[in-house]
Amino acid sequence: MMGSEPLATTGERAARRSVLQDRWARLRPLRTLLGYARGHRRFAVLTVCFGVVGFLLSFVYPWIIGTEVDLVLGQTGGAPGEEQRRSELFRLTSFALITAIMHAVVVYGRGHFNVRLGDSIVTDLRKALFEHLQKLSMRFYAKERAGGIMSRVLHDVHEATAIIYMGIFVAAMDAVQLLIAFALLTSISWKLTVACTLVFPLYALVFWRMNPRVRRASERVHGQLSLIAANISEQLAGQALVKTYTAEEREARRFAGDLTRHHGLVVAQSHEGHLVASSGEILVHLGTTIVVGYGGFLALGGEMTAGTMTRFLGYVIVMYGPVRRFAELNITYQSSLSAIRRVFRILDIQPSIVDRPGAVTESPRIGHVQFEGVRFRYADDSDESCARLDDEDQQRPSRDDSRRPRHSAPRSDWVLDGVTLECEPGERVAVVGPSGAGKTTLLSLLPRLYDVNGGRIVVDGIDVRDFSLAALRSSIAIVQQESFVFTGTIRENIAYGRPDATFEEIVAAARAAHAHEFIMRCPDGYDSRLGERGVNLSGGQRQRISIARALLKDPRILILDEATSSLDAESERIVQGALEELMKGRTSFIIAHRLSTIRNADRIVVLDGGRIAESGRHGELLAKDGIYARLVSAQAQAALEPERTSAAE
Ligand code: ADP
Ligand code: MG
Repeated sequence: MMGSEPLATTGERAARRSVLQDRWARLRPLRTLLGYARGHRRFAVLTVCFGVVGFLLSFVYPWIIGTEVDLVLGQTGGAPGEEQRRSELFRLTSFALITAIMHAVVVYGRGHFNVRLGDSIVTDLRKALFEHLQKLSMRFYAKERAGGIMSRVLHDVHEATAIIYMGIFVAAMDAVQLLIAFALLTSISWKLTVACTLVFPLYALVFWRMNPRVRRASERVHGQLSLIAANISEQLAGQALVKTYTAEEREARRFAGDLTRHHGLVVAQSHEGHLVASSGEILVHLGTTIVVGYGGFLALGGEMTAGTMTRFLGYVIVMYGPVRRFAELNITYQSSLSAIRRVFRILDIQPSIVDRPGAVTESPRIGHVQFEGVRFRYADDSDESCARLDDEDQQRPSRDDSRRPRHSAPRSDWVLDGVTLECEPGERVAVVGPSGAGKTTLLSLLPRLYDVNGGRIVVDGIDVRDFSLAALRSSIAIVQQESFVFTGTIRENIAYGRPDATFEEIVAAARAAHAHEFIMRCPDGYDSRLGERGVNLSGGQRQRISIARALLKDPRILILDEATSSLDAESERIVQGALEELMKGRTSFIIAHRLSTIRNADRIVVLDGGRIAESGRHGELLAKDGIYARLVSAQAQAALEPERTSAAE
């Protein structure tokens, strides 16, 4: 029993040390943020220079006033004549005027350069965040909502740097101002100085105890705002759905609910913040009260002149200035600190799909593809899957801890469980199987949208993970069911993979994709704008643009994922023609649920239960009378169904 006592003390000490380390670790984002300021030293220096002049100026008025009081009361030694006092007064007034003008210059300089510094950092941080976001794999995007991320890039980054705007430099200069005022006060009367600084420890205590609550309240406000942003962006994207299900009112109510909650959180944040501010304020005034009382007492006792007393009071106000400013800006600081943590929660995520050191930078030229015992599941232990961005006041004591898996997926959720498949250069391989069999998943592993969890994928004899991402991806093109067009001209959209392509090349690609005719019918031909305030294309036209885009890229390997599934028969016929053009001489993977479109493939593989269940040509598989034969006959039946129904009527 007795022996355990010193042990406990050691444990306590260790715990205390780890708390300190923890605090230091938590400050890391702030330190990194300040690191960004280094790149804009010019503005930082200017801000500081103006700031220094500013706080020196703030001591001038108390000095002028104090001197003037003594002058008027004639308490300066030697009692000068009327004439002399007037010229002295004139001198003081001119001095005050110059000070006034300098104040104006300082306000501009300090404010303006501070904003230039702050916004330069905002810009840098946004760039860094965006670049980082682009490095994160699909595992991250599969679980994060676009609007929430957007709100982080725009709102949280701005909020985060408020600490620099409002902030660090002002606070640093305020600290200096406080020290100078303190020194001046001590030189006048140390007794009075001690009396009026008695409130400082109390002040520190208030902040230390109460600030974590303010910070947590701020975190909740930011979180709710990002949720609102995510809801708005989803709601806008789903407008057609909202309208056709007449859910407008329900959506409006939901939005109002979100806003009410946000309002409540802002009120709570303000309550916590202003409680701290008012506690600070009362202490400051208590200090002033002490000076008025005790200082007056000393002056009455003849220990100091009225002018000195006035000057002292003036310096006290200068000294308390930073203290009060700190209390007022405290909400901003706390809010900023929590925003910084939100931004760094993204920046701290380790991208899992990156170039290996010494990766092959030469693109595969042949197009030989092997899947060797490929296993894959969506839930894994990577940072990208595990990081939770919106946990309130997330406990993240150390980086190591953050990587520990928060959930381990059950063994049974393998989407692919040992897929082996070898494709010769130029071969056309159709991948079929029931919906949800993992066809899209399998082929998204090829350009490394995800990495395999077991086995490997080899292109031209090299594991895909040994290529640089740029090299690998430049030789693979994907045409999906819903192709994406960016806001911009048709020309830009086609040249997306090769912005340096000549106009002739673009036109050639469009011709081959059977897109040239309709493009020429658009108001400005290839320079017609798509998207917002531009031309709207039909599904088939969009598909042909994306085929032209893929053609221009001239990939060795092609993935067509239900490329014609959402098209009507007429568009499908045209797009099919374009696809034939695209597939010529390339290793092609064709996923199609309309089995009639893949009849001519060199090989058909049937994916089922995470494995390849069958493989062969159309005829062979029919003869086998397995899954493929069943899928084909089911589709044939479905095609007959409407006729039968109408015959029955
Ligand atoms: P297919 O293209 O054959 O219809 P998918 O490859 O899209 O099938 O999906 C295979 C399985 O993986 C499905 O069970 C699906 O629910 C699951 N899945 C697909 N995408 C994701 C994802 N981003 N996160 C988790 N599970 C997914
Ligand atoms: Mg699919």
